[in-house]
Amino acid sequence: MEIPGYVQAVLEALEAAGHEAWCVGGCVRDALLGREPGDWDVTTSARPEETLAVFPTQGEPTGLKHGTVTVKTPGGPVEVTTYRIDGTYRDHRRPDSVIFTASLEADLSRRDFTVNAMAANLRGAFRDPFGGREDLRQGILRCVGDPDRRFQEDALRILRGLRFSASLGFSLEPGTAAALRRNRKLLGEVAPERIQVEFFKLLPGKAAAQVLRTYPEVFGVFWPELLAMVGFDQRNRHHCYDVWEHTLHALAAAPEDPVLRCTMLLHDVGKPASFTLDKQGVGHFYGHPAVSRELAEGMLRRLRCGTDFRETVVRLVEWHDRDIPRTDKAIRRALRILGEEDLRRLIQVKRADNRGQAPEYWGRQEELDKAESILDRLLAEDACFSLKQLAVKGGDLLALGLAGPAVGETLEALLERVIDGALPNERGALLKYVQRIRTAKGGKKGT
Ligand code: ATP
Ligand code: MG
Repeated sequence: MEIPGYVQAVLEALEAAGHEAWCVGGCVRDALLGREPGDWDVTTSARPEETLAVFPTQGEPTGLKHGTVTVKTPGGPVEVTTYRIDGTYRDHRRPDSVIFTASLEADLSRRDFTVNAMAANLRGAFRDPFGGREDLRQGILRCVGDPDRRFQEDALRILRGLRFSASLGFSLEPGTAAALRRNRKLLGEVAPERIQVEFFKLLPGKAAAQVLRTYPEVFGVFWPELLAMVGFDQRNRHHCYDVWEHTLHALAAAPEDPVLRCTMLLHDVGKPASFTLDKQGVGHFYGHPAVSRELAEGMLRRLRCGTDFRETVVRLVEWHDRDIPRTDKAIRRALRILGEEDLRRLIQVKRADNRGQAPEYWGRQEELDKAESILDRLLAEDACFSLKQLAVKGGDLLALGLAGPAVGETLEALLERVIDGALPNERGALLKYVQRIRTAKGGKKGT
């Protein structure tokens, strides 16, 4: 296992001061998997104040109560936490207290899963008291200790288990899986912000669809709206899957990105509530994007998602079923409303939605290719689709004698005409048009 230089320096400094120091948790797991660890955590026998004494200038007491000192290094911050065990848990969320200990093994035993409970030091020593390395080799997630107890101590571990399963593609050891299901209701007592963090790390995972398919009732604890989709027969020969299966196929086909994956998860959540059956016994879902949008809005608010994230997702949900624009004019209009980033996302959403249908419909991808190539060309040509790009500015109109709200209104009208192709985006032509209109209006007033 290769420990980066800046982390080695932290371990060396702690050892030089007579303390034990080990890399621990996610970084050891990821390094053994040959993945780039997101961050390197260090666990040490040093008490927090002793750690601060080793790093008098670089150390910051970020979580002293839990024994954590963040050491700022040129390579990035390293969290150094004192060996600790957790006190009793009364609320299924946080330990009532933490107790520092002199034993690395005790510290490893408080960790959630065996693959997260391994430590490695500078000299290549390795501690793995719960068989994490073997579980890693077999692709298994297993609680450290009794799974019921561990999920009851901290119910967030339920979602963490599914998160690691989705991102690593591991399966849950049967005892861990059964306890996870049994204790799922406890997730209801976890702060929505913590659920949000784990859930949006789960969605981009390569096995996210499979995890959602296997454990819908767990996600239903915080998003019961999802459960209405499970097994919902669309009664329509254009759909080979029920609503939930279609959703999962579409989700799996979307890029590994939280916005796109979340949009796919929610795009049809309004279908069950919009279902109607016609005289021929065929199912329809008229107006479902608006219902999905409404539900998605509430679901994302409940998890305390950021405003930008929420607004982007609900907009994509609302737009997902519209025909994709395939002419210059229509693409410019869509660009004006959505902007480049969201229009590109919408194309991805429509691609994924289509991939979630039976293969005989996949030919639709060509329409999306066409939309994308028009979009690329328009952007390469610097096509005008916003006021910022319009060849005439407010100042030009003031100089012509316009004032007040007429300035903004005229700019909007000009943009509209440029987007529709009725006027070129050229200053001279646009100003001439403004003058002509004003004369015409002035003439009318005079008569
Ligand atoms: P990531 O790749 O997302 O950083 P990670 O495993 O490093 O994954 P963190 O949330 O950074 O996860 O936590 C670091 C380590 O702390 C974990 O590997 C695990 O050993 C321990 N840990 C974190 N949260 C819990 C928890 N709720 N219960 C028990 N142990 C936990
Ligand atoms: Mg981590």
